[in-house]
Amino acid sequence: MPGQGTDQEELFALMEKMKHQDTKWREGQTFCLVYDGGKEISEVNKRAYNLYMSENGLNPSAFPSLKEMENDVVSILAHQLGSTGEVTGTMTSGGTESILMACKAARDWARQNLKITGTPQILMPVSAHPAFHKAAHYFDIEVVTVALCDNYRVNIELMKNAITEQTIMLVGSAPNYPFGVIDPIGEISKLAQDHGLWCHVDACIGGILLPFYRKLGQAVPPFDFTLPGVTSLSVDLHKYAYAAKGASVVLYKNAEYRRHQFFITTDWPGGIYASPSMTGTRPGGAIASAWAMLHFLGEEGYLELVGTIKQTTEEFYRRIEALDGVKTVVKPEMSLIALASDQHDIYQIGDEMSLRGWYMDRQQFPPSLHLTVMAGHAHSIDRFFSDLQASILEVQKFSNRMSHTQTQIKKALIRSMPKGIISALVKKEVRAIRQSGGVIPKKTAPMYGMLTSIETQGDVEKLVLNIMDSMFDQSLPVNNSVKDVS
Ligand SMILES: *Cc1c(COP(=O)(O)O)cnc(C)c1O
Repeated sequence: MPGQGTDQEELFALMEKMKHQDTKWREGQTFCLVYDGGKEISEVNKRAYNLYMSENGLNPSAFPSLKEMENDVVSILAHQLGSTGEVTGTMTSGGTESILMACKAARDWARQNLKITGTPQILMPVSAHPAFHKAAHYFDIEVVTVALCDNYRVNIELMKNAITEQTIMLVGSAPNYPFGVIDPIGEISKLAQDHGLWCHVDACIGGILLPFYRKLGQAVPPFDFTLPGVTSLSVDLHKYAYAAKGASVVLYKNAEYRRHQFFITTDWPGGIYASPSMTGTRPGGAIASAWAMLHFLGEEGYLELVGTIKQTTEEFYRRIEALDGVKTVVKPEMSLIALASDQHDIYQIGDEMSLRGWYMDRQQFPPSLHLTVMAGHAHSIDRFFSDLQASILEVQKFSNRMSHTQTQIKKALIRSMPKGIISALVKKEVRAIRQSGGVIPKKTAPMYGMLTSIETQGDVEKLVLNIMDSMFDQSLPVNNSVKDVS
């Protein structure tokens, strides 16, 4: 704690400077984490957020306007997603909380309605979001994953065969995050219905876009409450609805199912305490920003933005497919692209792109880079492809220096290396990250290459735990950017 306060001007100058190592998302070079709708949208968001910055959505009787906004947001999304009147829900702080709540509600519903004797199981495609694993981790549920077909959608036959006496819920994504394709939700929800199970649709990233894709003429298969077997659905507002961070919705077929989400305790000296979701205090700003966005943009505004996103994604797809050396893992059904290569190490291409200022997630099974396409990328797409071409050339030069046999030997070596050696090599990388105060290096290809060749999951988990420890280690010297300014 500093002894004295800092002057406002000085303080903000300091914070601006601290930001200098952060990802420069405004330049259209970032493909995750930030959903940029442009300057005007950002201004409206800030005004709405500021107006409700101090208000708390925990107790709706103190701030009826927040309750009204939340109910309006939920109702708008329910109608976008196939409600004929009964669908209801609540706002949450994000996709993860929405999914946690749906899993918890399903668990409590199953306790009342199914005869489960052991640990309840959730059956889901391997591509479904880690939030389901988190729910299982927190709520004493077990996740059973189902393999995908060649088209990267869940294999429905395998899912059917995996249903047991312990199964409570089937999951599908619309679309899944890693590959951007929609699971056969019609078949999944029918399967759930036939077996009397809960069906959750994770439309966290697709729930806002897909109804507009349909309006723009794309044949989007039914994925929402128009399907009678769908019990709950998650949809994020802080992604493609452009709301400030901390805004998502979890919807239920009817209020009967939603009751299993709520928490009430009646014997606290502080009074009767009721809370709809995980968090206690609920930021009024996020609710207000979500409400403001839906009303500021309206159908017309979203349709225009979604049109740009759709066109831009199609152009990314065409140009990737036309380029020698890279390909998409599967043809995207929305705005998410997995970029891979048959000829080169895609992680090395990723490193070259990082050096040129592009920010993309690294994926595994298969190794690929992830692109979440936004309207702003329409302006940076040409730069993206000239840098991608340069990156491929650079990686090619490198592999030309290594003969084909050498490359094969290297691959075979990594494959046949005893696990201990690979772990030791990765540990070395982890130590380097530690020494730099938790900063992940720009060149990560060797680390990802080795991480994906470690066979036991437990080893990888231990290594990642070490990285997390060092990222949140307050005894380490402060991050370089902070050190520079202080
Ligand atoms: C983003 C996302 C989530 C998790 O949402 P958070 O807001 O990051 O918690 C879950 N599922 C899918 C498909 C997503 O894209």
